[in-house]
Amino acid sequence: MLDRVLATRSLLPEHDLSFLADAPVIFHCHHFNLFLDQTIDDALGVEAGTALRTRAARDASYHLLSSLNRKLGLVTPAERLELAAALFAAMGHGRLEILTQATGGEGRGTWLHYGFAWHEKYGQAVRRRFPADAMAAGFMAAATEVAYGLPRESMQCTETACIAMRAPRCEFTFKPGKAEVPEIDVGTAQARAVVRPSFTGLYEDKIAAIAKGLRDFAGGVAGDERGLVQAFGVFVTLHLSTYYNRISYDAWNLVRERSPASLPVIEALLRESGHVCVFNTFGGILLSPEWEGMVGKIQGDPVEIVSGCTAIGRALGFGHWTLAELKPGERLVLRTPSTYESSYWVTREGPAQQGMCFFVQGAALAFMQLAERVPWTQRPKLTQEFYVELFRRGVPWSVKETKCIAKGDMACEVVVQKT
Ligand SMILES: [Zn+2]
Repeated sequence: MLDRVLATRSLLPEHDLSFLADAPVIFHCHHFNLFLDQTIDDALGVEAGTALRTRAARDASYHLLSSLNRKLGLVTPAERLELAAALFAAMGHGRLEILTQATGGEGRGTWLHYGFAWHEKYGQAVRRRFPADAMAAGFMAAATEVAYGLPRESMQCTETACIAMRAPRCEFTFKPGKAEVPEIDVGTAQARAVVRPSFTGLYEDKIAAIAKGLRDFAGGVAGDERGLVQAFGVFVTLHLSTYYNRISYDAWNLVRERSPASLPVIEALLRESGHVCVFNTFGGILLSPEWEGMVGKIQGDPVEIVSGCTAIGRALGFGHWTLAELKPGERLVLRTPSTYESSYWVTREGPAQQGMCFFVQGAALAFMQLAERVPWTQRPKLTQEFYVELFRRGVPWSVKETKCIAKGDMACEVVVQKT
């Protein structure tokens, strides 16, 4: 069955955007996933944050599961629920038991990516007082809607026990509720309509070759017996970009309405999610034996690091990132005809007044930090302490998205300058 699921994958090759069935998917690690969820809860409060994250997961998962069931011709609730649980594990999100009927019911999770990774990263030091698995909750709610043909956005789900709170397993309860008005899906056709004509940049041949090698490698990765993917020193998920985009932009919109003075704070945090991702995942890939086998041992040359990072961004499905300018120690201009953020923003929110690709902004700044300030030949450990030293104490770079597809430009362009 999973072979048939994988056969529904597609790529806009000129734009490095990936889809499973019709739903846009990207790879992100647990450091990014936990940081972004935390950002939403910090901005909205835990209760509203959890509710938004659960709704976003249900929204994105419904798109994936309904289009997958259509493509595979699955009919009975049992086979649809079975597919959902198998897919969740294959994507690296952990093991689910979905024990629901049309009238609601229960669900259980073991090794859930969010709860388990939170416990691994913070569990020794911090006692968590609320559950961590909105993604699993929303996913199972959507799976139930799809399995029983229920109205979209109608199944309510609460996580009642969580491994992040030191419970032996995660537990969920479901009950039907009033259906919310569904948002438009951000699928292949929508992404095609938003992306701009593609182009290339500096070191194109090298970047394209590395991106292809990494994408082929990532295409063969699936969850282990726990339903987790552990690679490059992180837990990796194949995730729905609509989840990330909806929680980020709904939170951004709410902050803009309620306390516009706080807008720079949430924008800085959304940008920081890019630092977190590049430091942990991109850094982990650059230091990995797989990279050494495919590209060669890392030497620490800024051009090598920045072009390598650009290729990694493409391979993870973030968009067709290109290098328009690179002056080591001074300036980087990253330009792309596609980002997963702008596909969503233009489809659901309409024209923007400013650059909206906060993740790309943070990622580009982190490229220069990695290129200039990491002693690569010493094979450093990418620890939290090292992260804090690099990014929290006076970053000597500024970043600005000077052009953005979301505001009608022909590309997104991010300029990073030494300050
Ligand atoms: Zn943009």
